[in-house]
Amino acid sequence: MPENTVTIGNVTITAVKDLPAMRGDPGYMYRDLPSSAWDAHKRWLNERGHLDITIGSFLVRSSGRSILVDTGIGKKERPVFRTDRADLLGNLAALGVRPEDVDLVVNTHLHVDHVGWNTVAQGDGWAPAFPRARYLIQQKEWEHFTAPERREQVAYVKDCLEPVAQAGLLDLVDHQHSITPELTYFPTPGHTPDHVSILVQSQGERALIIGDVAHHPVQLTETEWEVMADVDPKRAIETRRLVAEKLEREALTVLGGHFPFPCMGRLVRLSDRRVFQAL
Ligand SMILES: [Zn+2]
Repeated sequence: MPENTVTIGNVTITAVKDLPAMRGDPGYMYRDLPSSAWDAHKRWLNERGHLDITIGSFLVRSSGRSILVDTGIGKKERPVFRTDRADLLGNLAALGVRPEDVDLVVNTHLHVDHVGWNTVAQGDGWAPAFPRARYLIQQKEWEHFTAPERREQVAYVKDCLEPVAQAGLLDLVDHQHSITPELTYFPTPGHTPDHVSILVQSQGERALIIGDVAHHPVQLTETEWEVMADVDPKRAIETRRLVAEKLEREALTVLGGHFPFPCMGRLVRLSDRRVFQAL
């Protein structure tokens, strides 16, 4: 069993990095908070007052299939991110996983840091990075991000999304689609119009891969905190509150792709506060 893996019944989920941990001023992500807002959450800040943010992917093994949930930022020139150190494929290789071993790629939503390794450079264009995989994307999410007006603003539509469709590997699905008998969609709109989480159920055990419902565990306590990247902040807050309540009430294992590595834990109640405890 590789490190950084959790077992949910017959399913295994391994956190795989793309970039080394990014450290950042929390004011960048959480813009409208007074600095005192962090007083109760100092355990998350390092000595410089910075937060650790992970960018990566989850490798899920279910029903004999190898599934990647989200694909990181990729090695492509982007604003904000330093992508020269992106190495999801190398980190998968270290786990013994070659690109052709991946059966399914599932994007929780279509932001730049979740679709990066959908493709790799080939000639002067881009080709699917996982040549044998089917790529599953929610139809409404696809329509939103590939609409003509947005396509022009968002460079990665052309280098991470359209080449997958052109190669014939894209399956546009809805919430009812089951990824495997053990993996189903759980709609979590707000961060993007048709953002989805992945519910894992096997042998009476359950987990939820929450995509960007929360970018950091602190938001599962402070569900009202707004993140600058939420497309519909009100809806994102409502979704976050519902998900946090569900995670606590049903004692689900939670996996958040941007959480401090290895990105997995549970919610527990301490001094009447809901708090995240790493596995
Ligand atoms: Zn993200």
